[in-house]
Amino acid sequence: MLRCRTGLFVLFFVSISTLSFAQSTYKRTLKLMGSRFDITVVADSKEQSQQYINKAVAEINRIETLISSWDPHSQTSAINKNAGFRSVKVAPELYNLIARSLQISKLTAGAFDISYASMDAIWQFDGSVTTMPSSEKIKNSVANVDYQNIVLEPKDHRVFLTKKGMKIGFGAIGKGYAADAAKKVLQKAGVVGGIINASGDMNTWGVQPDGAPWKVGITNPLNKNKVFAFFSLQNNAVVTSGNYEKFVVLDGKRYSHIIDPRTGMPSTGLVSVSVFAPSAELADALATAIFVMGTEVGINLINQLPNIACVLVTESGEIRKSNHIDRVNYKKETHEI
Ligand code: ADP
Ligand code: MG
Repeated sequence: MLRCRTGLFVLFFVSISTLSFAQSTYKRTLKLMGSRFDITVVADSKEQSQQYINKAVAEINRIETLISSWDPHSQTSAINKNAGFRSVKVAPELYNLIARSLQISKLTAGAFDISYASMDAIWQFDGSVTTMPSSEKIKNSVANVDYQNIVLEPKDHRVFLTKKGMKIGFGAIGKGYAADAAKKVLQKAGVVGGIINASGDMNTWGVQPDGAPWKVGITNPLNKNKVFAFFSLQNNAVVTSGNYEKFVVLDGKRYSHIIDPRTGMPSTGLVSVSVFAPSAELADALATAIFVMGTEVGINLINQLPNIACVLVTESGEIRKSNHIDRVNYKKETHEI
């Protein structure tokens, strides 16, 4: 699973009260799925908050075991190992995540594509890529990228990658899915409010103990130490994908860690994409897709989707917003860029 994304800060204010039954916010920061997670809950006491947070951690670890493409024993790895050979029966939960991923591929005309993963062999974002890979190599790998070659057999939850060399990976949707799942577990346990922040994939519910909505700030991608806008969130998710942490520079040009499935090349043009949506999973996948689609096509798509909004920052520092950004829960509070 992928690591980087510290695109969002969470600001919250612990209510000060002398009443013994007053609730407070409690936060734990830890590394899960190879990434930083900040889990914030409203609880009666520290002890209670620890029990709650432990439940969220267990859920996130459970999901990682299911969807990791690095763990050779995961069901996802079994699908990849059998590419071009046979279908693999998987847990309904994984099957459904793949089915939803394919729907998002259709919605984004293939810009979001979990089969991007066979490009992992060519593009590494750890500093090891210093020269442009040969077009031959890129061409050979991108031939294995096409979500239409992921075949689902609904009757018994089987998944088949029809081409040898194909691979799937959940780098652009897994943390969003985990944030949603952790929120669900905590809501079920009776937690009235909180934030799951999976390195910038955030889902929130409820309000702060003083009744104020949660506030999130989006990092200024041109100056990581600054926040450029704050938003109030209520029972909503926001995900920021940025190329200011994971990228390669070749011949002076900056390429993001998001691959254009049409060309096999990393996308260029945008430095930060934040998407607001009812679920972090959808916001996560759409943020990645917009990087590939670019500013105009991306905003046009978001404007057609109900209850979804986005804010983009282009390479030249221009801020672009979708139509619904200032409505309902997406109210902008300050602006600093
Ligand atoms: P991060 O939290 O790492 O910033 P993003 O949501 O921005 O995650 O997604 C980027 C990751 O998604 C990449 O590191 C890679 O694992 C995967 N990915 C890259 N290109 C695509 C694509 N076109 N479709 C789906 N997943 C992709
Ligand atoms: Mg994403």
